[in-house]
Amino acid sequence: MQTTSNPRYRGRFAPSPTGPLHLGSLIAALASYLDARHNGGSWLVRMEDLDPPREVPGSARLILNSLQNHGLQWDGEVLHQSRRGAAYAAALAKLAAGGHLFDCDCTRAQIGPEGSCRGDCRERQARLRAPTATRVAVPPECHIRFRDRALGWSDTALGRDLPDFVVKRKDGLDAYQLAVVVDDAFQGITDIVRGSDLLDSTARQIFLQQLLAYPTPRYRHIPLITDAAGDKFSKQTHAPALDDCSACANLRAALAFLRQPQPPTDLGSTGQILAFATRHWAPGNTPAVLSMPATSKPD
Ligand code: GLU
Repeated sequence: MQTTSNPRYRGRFAPSPTGPLHLGSLIAALASYLDARHNGGSWLVRMEDLDPPREVPGSARLILNSLQNHGLQWDGEVLHQSRRGAAYAAALAKLAAGGHLFDCDCTRAQIGPEGSCRGDCRERQARLRAPTATRVAVPPECHIRFRDRALGWSDTALGRDLPDFVVKRKDGLDAYQLAVVVDDAFQGITDIVRGSDLLDSTARQIFLQQLLAYPTPRYRHIPLITDAAGDKFSKQTHAPALDDCSACANLRAALAFLRQPQPPTDLGSTGQILAFATRHWAPGNTPAVLSMPATSKPD
């Protein structure tokens, strides 16, 4: 049992239940866990089950079981986004009251790169055709600058490159960008360690945090694991589910990917491996790159 002694550090792992845990998601879970525990902080798990069409039934339970079988024990109750609709509605109401939202009925053909809206819906607010999505207005000159703990300073011309993003989808579902910001604030998250596929989302999330007067957590984006062809190792590319019976070997493989010291071979339980890895956690060893292939075998 880890002791929690640093109330100023609250980390989290926030899986989407779109399939069982695979090596890529174990790496993200492990990096956020080790960063939290090494700093004496707490580590929370949030199930991001706010997109039923993408959900694979049973996978939320499988992910939680897998985390436990790998010794990755979280603090407190798992927060389920599917039960947080009222909080997202309250945040949307606050954004609407500030005049930051507009409705959009633009068709697929009018949607630009990165989901931005290139249509004329803003001029037709009183005459939109249902169904509509709700977007947050990003001023054209808006820049978001933040320092990633791994990748350094990042400056996103949000108003130019990722403007007016969706906070409530046309199908009525709350968008990930809104939910994640509301829940990170609700859970008092101070430190986010996650895969670099979410780097682009960070500027959007900081923009929403500023509009909602929430604190901005510290961010550390870790490299994405790719297959030999350089493709992201993910549920979409059918990354194999982790075998919970090989939990120690899986942890060793994840540590090797993160370029962490390998626990001595006589450490044979997940608890021993995690205790060693927590003590020796050296995030600066992990290359500051967006993606890298799986290492062949741990030493
Ligand atoms: N639910 C997201 C995913 O599984 C992660 C969200 C986050 O860490 O902000 O990709």
